[in-house]
Amino acid sequence: MNPLEGDTAMAVSKELLDILVCPKCKGPVALTPAEDGLVCNACALKYEIKDDIPIMLIDEAIPVNQ
Ligand SMILES: [Zn+2]
Repeated sequence: MNPLEGDTAMAVSKELLDILVCPKCKGPVALTPAEDGLVCNACALKYEIKDDIPIMLIDEAIPVNQ
Protein backbone atom coordinates (compact mmCIF):
# COMPACT_ATOMS: atom_id res chain seq x y z
CA MET A 1 0.00 0.00 0.00
CA ASN A 2 1.46 3.31 -1.07
CA PRO A 3 -0.02 6.14 1.01
CA LEU A 4 0.78 8.60 -1.77
CA GLU A 5 -1.69 6.87 -4.07
CA GLY A 6 -4.63 7.54 -1.80
CA ASP A 7 -7.14 9.89 -3.39
CA THR A 8 -9.79 9.85 -0.71
CA ALA A 9 -9.30 13.59 -0.16
CA MET A 10 -10.58 14.39 -3.63
CA ALA A 11 -14.10 15.73 -3.68
CA VAL A 12 -14.76 14.38 -7.15
CA SER A 13 -13.24 11.06 -8.12
CA LYS A 14 -11.12 10.50 -11.20
CA GLU A 15 -13.62 7.93 -12.37
CA LEU A 16 -16.42 10.48 -12.24
CA LEU A 17 -14.30 13.10 -14.01
CA ASP A 18 -13.62 10.63 -16.80
CA ILE A 19 -17.30 10.26 -17.63
CA LEU A 20 -18.25 13.92 -17.19
CA VAL A 21 -18.37 16.04 -20.32
CA CYS A 22 -19.42 19.59 -21.06
CA PRO A 23 -23.19 19.57 -21.66
CA LYS A 24 -22.77 22.25 -24.31
CA CYS A 25 -20.02 20.87 -26.56
CA LYS A 26 -19.71 17.32 -25.16
CA GLY A 27 -16.00 17.99 -24.72
CA PRO A 28 -13.80 17.15 -21.73
CA VAL A 29 -13.89 19.23 -18.57
CA ALA A 30 -11.04 19.85 -16.14
CA LEU A 31 -11.10 20.21 -12.39
CA THR A 32 -10.20 23.68 -11.13
CA PRO A 33 -7.11 23.98 -8.86
CA ALA A 34 -9.42 24.81 -5.98
CA GLU A 35 -11.56 21.76 -6.85
CA ASP A 36 -14.66 23.93 -6.65
CA GLY A 37 -15.70 23.49 -10.24
CA LEU A 38 -15.16 21.91 -13.61
CA VAL A 39 -14.01 24.04 -16.54
CA CYS A 40 -14.63 23.51 -20.24
CA ASN A 41 -11.82 25.29 -22.04
CA ALA A 42 -13.59 25.16 -25.40
CA CYS A 43 -16.67 26.98 -24.08
CA ALA A 44 -14.84 28.99 -21.38
CA LEU A 45 -17.48 27.92 -18.91
CA LYS A 46 -17.14 26.73 -15.34
CA TYR A 47 -19.56 24.26 -13.83
CA GLU A 48 -19.68 24.60 -10.07
CA ILE A 49 -19.36 21.68 -7.68
CA LYS A 50 -21.87 21.87 -4.85
CA ASP A 51 -21.88 19.32 -2.03
CA ASP A 52 -19.40 17.23 -4.04
CA ILE A 53 -21.84 17.12 -6.97
CA PRO A 54 -20.86 18.81 -10.23
CA ILE A 55 -23.68 20.96 -11.59
CA MET A 56 -23.42 20.10 -15.27
CA LEU A 57 -26.06 22.51 -16.52
CA ILE A 58 -25.48 25.15 -19.20
CA ASP A 59 -27.88 27.50 -17.42
CA GLU A 60 -25.85 27.22 -14.19
CA ALA A 61 -22.44 27.57 -15.84
CA ILE A 62 -20.26 30.57 -15.06
CA PRO A 63 -18.25 32.24 -17.84
CA VAL A 64 -14.52 32.25 -17.18
CA ASN A 65 -11.85 34.57 -18.52
CA GLN A 66 -8.94 32.75 -20.08
ZN1 LIG B 1 -17.88 22.98 -23.69
